[in-house]
Amino acid sequence: MAEYPALYLLIDGERVTGGGRRTFSVVNPASGEAIGALPLAEAADLDRALEVAAKGFRIWRKSTPQERAAVLQGAARLMAERQEQLARIATMEQGKPLAESRLEVMMNVGLFNFYAGEVFRLYGRELVRPEGTRSTVRHEPVGPVAAFAPWNFPLGNPGRKLGAPIAAGCSVILKAAEETPASALGVLQCLLDAGLPKEVAQAVFGVPDEVSRHLLASPVIRKLSFTGSTVVGKHLAKLAAEDMKRTTMELGGHGPVLVFGDADIDKALETAVFGKYRNAGQVCVSPTRFIVEETVFERFRDGFVERAKAVKVGDGLADGTRMGPMANPRRPEAMDRLIGDAKAKGAVLHTGGERIGNQGFFYAPSVLSEVPLEADIMNEEPFGPVALINPYKGEGEMIAEANRLPYGLAAYAWTGDYQRQRRLAAEIEAGMVGINSHMIGGADSPFGGVKWSGHGSEDGPEGVMACLVTKAVHEG
Ligand code: NAD
Repeated sequence: MAEYPALYLLIDGERVTGGGRRTFSVVNPASGEAIGALPLAEAADLDRALEVAAKGFRIWRKSTPQERAAVLQGAARLMAERQEQLARIATMEQGKPLAESRLEVMMNVGLFNFYAGEVFRLYGRELVRPEGTRSTVRHEPVGPVAAFAPWNFPLGNPGRKLGAPIAAGCSVILKAAEETPASALGVLQCLLDAGLPKEVAQAVFGVPDEVSRHLLASPVIRKLSFTGSTVVGKHLAKLAAEDMKRTTMELGGHGPVLVFGDADIDKALETAVFGKYRNAGQVCVSPTRFIVEETVFERFRDGFVERAKAVKVGDGLADGTRMGPMANPRRPEAMDRLIGDAKAKGAVLHTGGERIGNQGFFYAPSVLSEVPLEADIMNEEPFGPVALINPYKGEGEMIAEANRLPYGLAAYAWTGDYQRQRRLAAEIEAGMVGINSHMIGGADSPFGGVKWSGHGSEDGPEGVMACLVTKAVHEG
């Protein structure tokens, strides 16, 4: 079994540690015990990383598509080879079941291989102009990227943050979550072992606000890529605006799921319950607000509760675990607060609503129904294993509820009516809509939101385009 590895900052290819730096204690969420000490960057470390990133950009912007593809494909191959080791590390520091961590590795493998093909398609165009003159449109890498990744997909988030800039010819300074550093370092190591020049991708950790203020204040950084909460996203977008840096913001959501009377209810239940408790609900596209037509409300609610009760909760490393602990102590606290507030305002708790055991950060799969709209949980992203199920009269009311919040990341709908499917696809305000399916991602498909869920996309051709700027050249 892979042991938890040593932790460091990776600056200019050097594993930086010690030297009187502050440290952060990484905890296994299944036990609550410390498993590693992460050094935190000081201002001088960040300055060094910036200087190296500027050099890395000068090197990598000139790389050929063949060189970029070789690195991305090589890293994909290494990740697949190291799948078990990477997955165990991710589960140790984040808690999710091993099967989910393994899938994260394969998500990165798919994405890196897709981007390896995409680098050959970053061509511009030539405009029709009078003879003797020429006008061309070029796409150039935007410059060094500061990328901040959260803890909920400890392998997948760093994969997204690194893959796109590297495909585009940028350098990148990654600050992954301090709570899940070893997974991020493992992904980065695959790129370096595949031949990526050490100046091109670096990893720092620190006090998040110190690091982001420092990096975003530097003119070296030309783009911010952030995944995390809307509150932090707005704060960082303001910092980026000071220097007019490009931004890709993947922020929070509050996934509505519209279930109509004409839907395949059993399929909707199987899919939605699986989706809800994946990663203990700590997923930005998690299905959360179940907006159910009143004719099937009781059947759907009871079916959901029955299935939620059957979800096996345990250590992510143990066989048969369907749901692991929550990733950090803030999450069960948030669950208690949000579910307590909902109950006090009249919601009915059918199952869960409490922690499991007194070791680690386990929380029971929970279901609330008849949740008043003024309950905090109907307005704030719960980011936990709780489903909110309410009855509605018909399509108009259901669409209005889906669009009520300022969030617009993922939305889902279950209906057998083809005309309705088309109306919903058009009317629902979201970056991604799943109809009779919760499979809303893929290496080739843009992933991102609208409204307070952010802007810009990761994955797909759009993910690479987001790291390019456009230049028009006119020759007389
Ligand atoms: P948080 O909002 O403080 O942190 C979210 C992430 O942003 C963490 O990885 C953190 O390290 C990072 N972060 C925080 N402040 C930062 C800063 N100034 N500069 C750069 N990075 C910064 O709190 P949290 O308790 O970790 O998470 C709370 C909420 O965040 C969740 O309830 C959820 O709504 C949201 N979240 C969203 C995602 C997502 O995938 N969109 C992932 C994780 C958390």
